[in-house]
This record gives sequence, C-alpha cells and structure tokens, in this order.
Amino acid sequence: YLLDCMARASRAQAAIMVFSEERAKQKCGDAALMHLEEALKTAAELGSNLYQHEINREIAGIYQQRGDYMNALRYLENSSWHKKSMIKDQSLMALVQKRYSKVRKKARIYEKQHADIDRIYSICQKISSRLEYDEIVEILYSEARQLFSLDILLLAQYDSKKARINRATYVENGKTNRIEGFATGEKSTVGEHVLNVRESILINDRDSEYFRYIDPAKQGSLKEGRPYPQSMIYCPLFIGEVSTGYISIQSFSRGTYTAEDVYKLETIAAYLSIALENSDLYHAIEHSVSHDFLTGLSSRREIFVKGKKRYFECVTSGSPFSLVMIDIDYLKKINDAYGHRTGDRLLTEASDIIRLHSRAGDISARYGGEEFVLILPETDIEGARKVAERIREQFENHVFCSECGQDIKFTGSFGVYQYDTFKNEEFEHGLMAVDEALYQAKKSGRNRISHLE
Ligand code: GH3
Ligand code: MG
Ligand code: MG
Repeated sequence: YLLDCMARASRAQAAIMVFSEERAKQKCGDAALMHLEEALKTAAELGSNLYQHEINREIAGIYQQRGDYMNALRYLENSSWHKKSMIKDQSLMALVQKRYSKVRKKARIYEKQHADIDRIYSICQKISSRLEYDEIVEILYSEARQLFSLDILLLAQYDSKKARINRATYVENGKTNRIEGFATGEKSTVGEHVLNVRESILINDRDSEYFRYIDPAKQGSLKEGRPYPQSMIYCPLFIGEVSTGYISIQSFSRGTYTAEDVYKLETIAAYLSIALENSDLYHAIEHSVSHDFLTGLSSRREIFVKGKKRYFECVTSGSPFSLVMIDIDYLKKINDAYGHRTGDRLLTEASDIIRLHSRAGDISARYGGEEFVLILPETDIEGARKVAERIREQFENHVFCSECGQDIKFTGSFGVYQYDTFKNEEFEHGLMAVDEALYQAKKSGRNRISHLE
C-alpha cells in the first residue's frame, strides 16, 4: 500500500512538473509572443523585410512548439513572403549600387569638365588681356599643355586679301620656332584646307587619314629622321566671315584626341581670334602713331619721345650725341614741274636712302614736309658729318624717274650738330641749332653740309 502510495505520489509530482513546465513555457511563450508582435510592428513601420522575415519565423517557431500549427503556418508564410521581398530588395540594392557607381563615374567626368572649363576660361582671360604676340603664344602653349596631351602647338595667321600666311609659329618642347610667311593656294597643308572649309579637323592616325585633305604629292618633307605627328586637331580662326588663321595641337602618338578636345580647342580658338586681332590692331595703331605714313620713317612724335630718351641716356653715360637735319632742295619746283605724286615718290626714295645710312640705334624721322632728322646716339660731329656726306652724295647721284618717265636729279641740304652732353643742354636747343645750321647750308648754295661753330 505504501509502495503503491509512493508510486502514485511520484507520478503526480512528475505530472505537476510537466504541467508547471508547460505553464512556464506557455507564460514565457505569451510574453515572447507579445514582444515579438511589438517588434514585428516596428519592423513593418521601418519597412525592413529582413526583420519581418526573422520575427515571423520566430513567432512561427513558438506556435509550432505549442502545437498550434495553423498559426505556425500563417507566420511561416509571412516569413517566407518577406524573405522573397528581401531578395527583391537586395537585387534592387545591387541595382541602386550599380546606378550609384555610374553616377559617381559621371560626377567624376563632370568634375573634370568643370576643371577643364575653368582652365579654358583662364586661358581665354589671359590671352585676351595680352597685346604682345609672343606672350599670347607662350601662354597658349603652357596652358594648353595642361588641358591636352600635346607635343606641338602650331599657330598661323592668314591674310585673306593677299591669300598668304603672314605669320606662323610652332612650339615644340617649349621651343618657339617662327615659320616664314608663305602664299597659300597649293593645297599642300591641312591648315590650308581648314582655312577654306572653316571647319575643325580631327586626325588620330595620320598615315590613314591625313591624305583625305591634301594631295600626298604636295606634302612638304620633314628633316631626315624626324617623325610625323600622328594625331592632330586643326581649328580655324576667324573674325565674322573672314578666315584669319588656324591653331593646331599635335601629338606623335596615335589616337590622342577626342571630339570633346575639338570642342575645347574651338572655344579657345574663338577667343584667340579676337586676341590676335586686338594685338594686330594695337600694333597697327601704335605703328601709325610712331611712323610716317608716306615714307615709313619714324614720325615727328618719335623725335621727341624716343629721341629725347636716347639723348638723356647719352647725357647720363657722358657719350656724344649728334643730329643731322636734311631738307630736299627745290622740291616745290619738282612738284610744280612733275606733279605732287612725283614729289611724293621723290620723298619716299630720299627716305629709303636716309634709312639705309642709319644704324640700329639711330632714329631716322620725317620732321615735316620735305625735312628729315637723323638722331645719332654715341656719335660725335665728325661721325655725323660722315653720315651726312654719304647721304648727300647718294642724293646727288640718285636718278629717279618721274611719273611720266623722265629722269630727275635732286639734291639736299644738311645741318649737323653735336650736343655738349656735359652741359646738360635742352634737347630742343639741339633741334634749333641743327635747323640753324641747315639754314646756313641753304643760304650758302644748297647741296652741302653746314654746322654751327
Ligand atoms: P628749298 O628747300 O631748297 O628752299 O626749296 P623747297 O621748294 O624745297 O622749299 P620750300 O620751303 O619753298 O617748299 C617746300 C616744298 O615741299 C613745297 C611743298 O609742296 C613740298 N612738300 C612738302 N611736303 C610734301 C609732300 O608730302 N609731298 C610733296 N609732293 N611735296 C611736299
Ligand atoms: Mg626744301
Ligand atoms: Mg623745307
């Protein structure tokens, strides 16, 4: 009986334990379920398929443990639905990443383009603010090297009225080389083709592309052993409708340039055309102010600007400084007899003789009408006399032809003067003195040289 009682008691205890374990599981399961449902809501709000997939699976596990297979299945289905969505998300993410890297790549291109635009803007600004041709070329070369891969820069200016390249320069390895002007019309260069069609040309393999534009028989030859550039861009320069030249960048490698490079060079070319035009206009104006229109000698203004400057340099260094003043004899009579045009030509030929006898540091100028002044730095009165005598002789021996074909002879009268550079004499005083000496030469019979003692 006792034994029987004990067995019953232990069975009951075991049952109680199982029961309380089940209860504990149940309780714990309830609490877990409650938290997991909360977590599921949050995951749904977050829109996270990963969390929803995992929480649903957890919940399904609990229901499965409880033997509530209906709910377990429901949550498993939810879990698997979110897993599928998760895979979709992942492929979406991969897609987004791919797009992102594409965008990054594009952004890098835009960044480079932006830097290039900055550089182009800087080149254009720098060349537009310069008036000296050599400076423009120097800036162009050094800046373009940052923008393009180039071995040679070529720049040619074209005079459409004369159909001539009047100035051309190429820069290679930082060394600037001038090319003599030449007449176009031979169709022997791609540059000439560009001048005619006024469109840019891109060549990336000279051997196969170059002769689309020129006749091979007409191409110029290079020095022995010198390679031909293989890639090149030629862009025309023009002002309005008029072709004013071309710019070319060249490389010895094949396949160097892109259509984008052409566009960049065209932008620079547009500014360059204006910069070169400005530079030429500036120098033309400067030349017309400092030179006499008829004779091409220095203008009267230059006597007082450059002449005075040279004079003070000689005063400072204590060097001699002399003047020669020249007046054509009886020009009025020649004008009256043969007409003004003949008189003009006489003045031009007399000027050529004067120019021929002046050295590099001298200034030969038209003082006015038929009077000329020769400014001779570092020259004493003897030297001035010698120069004057040579010119006088040349005038006397020169036979020049009138408009109607008659031979005409002419002479000139000369005044010479040496400044006393130690006395710090006024420059203008010398001009008055040499004029006075010239007057003496006229008075004493013309075709002679006179100097005031
Ligand atoms: P001389 O100096 O020997 O006393 O006589 P001249 O006849 O040369 O001098 P004059 O002072 O009497 O007259 C100057 C002449 O020079 C008159 C003028 O028409 C001429 N002349 C001045 N400038 C020019 C010019 O640009 N072209 C031409 N054709 N003649 C000029
Ligand atoms: Mg005269
Ligand atoms: Mg005179």
